[in-house]
Amino acid sequence: MKSQVSNQQMASSAQIDKLKNAKIKPQGHLINGGRQPSRDGSVLEVLSPRDGKPLTTIANGGAGDIDLAVASARKSFNQGSWSQMAPAGRKKILIRLAELIEAHAYKLAVLGVRDNGTEISMALKAEPGSAADTFRYYGEAVDKVYGEIAPTANNVVALIERGPIGVVGVIVPWNFPLMIGAWKIAPALAAGNSVVLKPAASASLSLLLLAELALEAGLPAGVFNVVTGLGATTGEALALHNDVDILAFTGSGVIGRRLLEYSAQSNLKQVFLELGGKSPNIIFPDAPSLAKAAKAAVNGIFRNSGQVCISGSRLLVHRDIHDEFLALVIAETEKLTVGDPLDTASDVGAIHCIEQLEKNLSYVAKATNEGATLCAGGKRTLSQSGGYYMQPTIFCNVSADMQVAQEEVFGPLLCVIPFENEADAVRIANATDYGLAAGIWTADLARAHRMIKTVQSGVIHVNCYGGTDMTVPLGGMKQSGNGHDKSLHGLEKYTALKTAWIDIG
Ligand code: NAP
Repeated sequence: MKSQVSNQQMASSAQIDKLKNAKIKPQGHLINGGRQPSRDGSVLEVLSPRDGKPLTTIANGGAGDIDLAVASARKSFNQGSWSQMAPAGRKKILIRLAELIEAHAYKLAVLGVRDNGTEISMALKAEPGSAADTFRYYGEAVDKVYGEIAPTANNVVALIERGPIGVVGVIVPWNFPLMIGAWKIAPALAAGNSVVLKPAASASLSLLLLAELALEAGLPAGVFNVVTGLGATTGEALALHNDVDILAFTGSGVIGRRLLEYSAQSNLKQVFLELGGKSPNIIFPDAPSLAKAAKAAVNGIFRNSGQVCISGSRLLVHRDIHDEFLALVIAETEKLTVGDPLDTASDVGAIHCIEQLEKNLSYVAKATNEGATLCAGGKRTLSQSGGYYMQPTIFCNVSADMQVAQEEVFGPLLCVIPFENEADAVRIANATDYGLAAGIWTADLARAHRMIKTVQSGVIHVNCYGGTDMTVPLGGMKQSGNGHDKSLHGLEKYTALKTAWIDIG
């Protein structure tokens, strides 16, 4: 049963209601400080996953629009109004931007939900909340990063400096566009670079608003440009551009691979990839609380309809507690309300687009054909709304080698896999191409430490699933990526290491 609605929830519902049906005017690119249409005038329609209806249009960028944006980024970089500004000056503007994001939190969150479908309770925290934290973190950091003096012979002074690199291309997906965008844009700007962003065509609105807020905060025109459009055209043109120095990408492995090829075909730009996962959440019989573990397992896969890169999509359960734990997980799942993502009572919002919903349902059919047992959900729901919704879905009797246990679905689909002992759990956990996140539930400290070393994943949660903040890096091992966002490590990739060797003999 839901708890009583608090005053705070009522206030938040009132703010959401004011914004949720507001007309959204057609959106142009943001290049050199101003909005503009595509050079050929073409536009793309944006549909809302809430009800499948058109929301607005965005400009459909081509290679010519990317050329303009990259030229504007390069010009601003060379002029130095941002790249050569004292770090303390950049800090002020980035912190001002964090404050503006907070001031416009509802507007940003509701706009984002209208085109990407994340439940608003999660979007408010994860989108403007994280984006503001990120701009504040890198703003605060940038005047605290020092160079080095190398321990050379006495007749030499060797200085090692980190400076901005130039033009950073950023390509982000539709899940959490503001948060993931900020993880790249904020450190790139903090380091003094100029940016050209290509958001997902289906989740561009909140990022366009972010770029306007950046201008309001005092970022010079041309330093942060946004070109909207499709991946296969606009994204490709950015990734192939010879005047882009770095490409920072979050998305699928298929496209990540292609970006490495584009780099090889163009100027050998550095390419940083944050890719997908098939993360194991591992439950031992000595977990401190099976009830807490079950709740976390359910939140860890079903929030945002499983459209979370680190979602714990493989639940590995020790055979001794398998049936008991599965019953707890099913009971927790049944408590979830799937519904309009702009209704604060919804625990789970919409699937991002009809193609993703169809992909999710195709995995239900595949898992069934492979011999897994459907224990919950498995169907589209609320189709009368015109929106794209799916029941939280659980399969048990899954074996580690099934397609549904190997491939990232990126939907509300949980595979439950039994294991015999610690070695078996580690073997299954590591038996995919991915290595993004993992969870381990045990009261045995030694076992937890052993598994932190042996489970191949960039992030490991112990007796929780999904906790994080700006102080820790997020990145994957194996085919989950080659870089890190967040923390001071997230700043390194946007800076060039330069050595000055000075003969003083
Ligand atoms: P995607 O299909 O790879 O798209 C990601 C971005 O790349 C979008 O902006 C897309 O544009 C663009 N793109 C597509 N084709 C391109 C091309 N040929 N050249 C340049 N850009 C191109 O991924 P998605 O479906 O949006 O996102 C889901 C994936 O992201 C999942 O695999 C998920 O695990 C991963 N993810 C990873 C993390 C992490 O931190 N590791 C975080 C979140 C998500 P259009 O959409 O406009 O076509």
